[in-house]
Amino acid sequence: MDAKSPETKGQPEHAPRRPSREEAEAAVRTLIAWAGDDPTREGLIDTPKRVTKAFGEFYRGYHEDAAETLDRVFDEAGGYDDIVLVRDIPFFSHCEHHMVPFIGKAHIAYYPKGGVVGLSKLARVVDIFARRLQMQERLTNQIAQAVDKGLAPRGVAVMLEAEHHCVSMRGTRKSGVSTVTTSFTGVFHKDAAERARFLQLVQGR
Ligand SMILES: [Zn+2]
Repeated sequence: MDAKSPETKGQPEHAPRRPSREEAEAAVRTLIAWAGDDPTREGLIDTPKRVTKAFGEFYRGYHEDAAETLDRVFDEAGGYDDIVLVRDIPFFSHCEHHMVPFIGKAHIAYYPKGGVVGLSKLARVVDIFARRLQMQERLTNQIAQAVDKGLAPRGVAVMLEAEHHCVSMRGTRKSGVSTVTTSFTGVFHKDAAERARFLQLVQGR
C-alpha cells in the first residue's frame, strides 16, 4: 500500500522490525505471568501459540490493500446513479488504547458516477481497516476515504455503530452502550438534505 495515501493516516508509515514468532510467543508468556498465572501449566502451554495465530487474524489488515479491492468497478448498472446503501455490515476491530474488541455494524452509501462496485467489496474494505489497531473515528474516515478514492463517486456516507468492550468490561462497566460515528464526502458533505436522506435510509428499517 502507498504509505502516504490518506487511508494510512494514523498508522505507521514505517513499521518497526517485525519480531519473530518465538519473540511474540515469549511476550504472551510474559503477559500471562503478569496477569498472575503460570504460563508453564498444562492448560496454558499452547496459549502463546494460539494467541499469536489469533493476532495474525485480528490484525491481518496491515498486510492488505483496500485500493486493490476497489479497483474493479462495474459500469453495467444501466446508468444507475441514485444512492446505493449497504446496511448492517458486521465488523470487529480492536481499540488501540486497550487492544480490546469493539464490535458493531457499518453502513455505507454512495452516489455512483460511472460505475458501481460488487457489494461484498464494501464489506471487504471495512474488514481490511477493522483488522488493525483502531479508533472508531479513524476507522470511519478510512473507509469513507478509501471508497471515495476507489470509486470516485459523487459522495460517500459512512456510519459505524459499535460497542466498545473496553467500556463494557472496565471501569464504568456499562454494557449495551453504543458509539456512533459518521464520515461524509462529496454531496453528503456539502448537502444537509443528502445526509438526512442517508440517515433516514439507515434508520428506516
Ligand atoms: Zn479501549
